Amino acid sequence: MPAVQNVLVVGAGAAGSAAAIALARAGVRVDLIDTAASVNALGSGITLQGNALRELRALGVWEACRDQGYAFEGLGLRAPDPAGTLIAEIPELRTGGDDPPATMGMYRPALAQILIDRAAEVGARVRFGTRYNAFLQDDDGVHVDFADGSTGRYDLLVGADGINSQTRRGLGIDVEPRGIGLGIWRCFGPRPESVTRTDLIYGGPSYIAGYCPTSEDTLYAYIVEDYQDRSGLSPQQGLEVMRSLAEAYHGPWDEIRDNLTDASRVHYTRFSTHVVPAPWHRGRVVLIGDAAHTCPPTIAQGAAQAFEDAAVLADVIVRRDTLDEDAWAEFTDRRFARAKAVVDASMQLAQWQLDHERGDVPGLMRGISQMLATPA
Ligand SMILES: Cc1cc2nc3c(=O)[nH]c(=O)nc-3n(C[C@H](O)[C@H](O)[C@H](O)COP(=O)(O)OP(=O)(O)OC[C@H]3O[C@@H](n4cnc5c(N)ncnc54)[C@H](O)[C@@H]3O)c2cc1C
Repeated sequence: MPAVQNVLVVGAGAAGSAAAIALARAGVRVDLIDTAASVNALGSGITLQGNALRELRALGVWEACRDQGYAFEGLGLRAPDPAGTLIAEIPELRTGGDDPPATMGMYRPALAQILIDRAAEVGARVRFGTRYNAFLQDDDGVHVDFADGSTGRYDLLVGADGINSQTRRGLGIDVEPRGIGLGIWRCFGPRPESVTRTDLIYGGPSYIAGYCPTSEDTLYAYIVEDYQDRSGLSPQQGLEVMRSLAEAYHGPWDEIRDNLTDASRVHYTRFSTHVVPAPWHRGRVVLIGDAAHTCPPTIAQGAAQAFEDAAVLADVIVRRDTLDEDAWAEFTDRRFARAKAVVDASMQLAQWQLDHERGDVPGLMRGISQMLATPA
């Protein structure tokens, strides 16, 4: 019998929906709540590397994701010159094993919908538009007051409520994410035929310009710059800024820029980081995903690490009879150093950009990929 019988998962993003699926499938009663009114209908793309795809397969959603995503192998490097000259093609390690591809691009809301549908299918009770006001725990469980006046009693509360986690603050953990000085413009649009994998352009007036196909018809593209407070810009002004930054980049970028016409598909986000020191639990409340650690997306691992947190937490709970300190020690041993190594590597890549330093990018990426190729 699993170590817990009923769980409240707070946050239905990558971490929370994956945890809900893995626990509910094993017979645990799961309430999955999210403050958002519904699965977000708008959004950009996401790059899922092999280790993320391995977890999606374990959750039973690989085929559904593959059907909606765009799989590819390897990474291209282009120059910031008038032709967008291809200067290198770098093979990527299949970190998910022989079966899933090295990488897959996907539309974020499509991934979110697949995960939520799966959580409901395996028996999790999913409630959007729901928040809690407070929790109070004792040795045996957690009492939760919901904002609608209802209450619940759970064996475990999983805080998967993202970078600004209410649960983290509720535990009195005062580690907060900090900006690292970079910001990213992202847009979502039609895929030019020439875009069949991720290509990155380092340099030019911005730090990085890149793109990733997300389906036969779509892609997302991004430009990384020094962080600026862009909050005062209207959507149309944001579109114009991204278009003007994209003027410096060519090759497939010429078509991407021409297609960049829908202001509602352009977003600006600050790069942030934090790592909650181990352990990530206090009594019967545990943090996973961005609530516990955030990395700048320089190696596209945030969601992958969130899936791994969820998988390991569920594995520990399902294999053990009691949620004792041994169980938590196993969770901490399998997750903390690995997630921190990913954050550290992502930060190193970002720092090399900020310092205009070349750095051993291939060596760093190879080391991380080798680590990720072994399941968490
Ligand atoms: C610009 C950018 C690009 C990225 N690109 C990639 C990429 O290509 N590949 C990759 O693997 N990762 C990428 N990431 C990282 C990835 O998006 C995150 O690491 C991942 O989404 C974390 O999942 P999560 O479930 O922990 O948090 P979230 O996805 O943020 O989900 C948290 C959920 O909790 C809900 N919530 C918040 N507060 C409460 C509350 N109090 N009560 C209930 N619900 C609440 C929110 O509505 C949300 O649905 C990127 C990140 C950024 C910023």
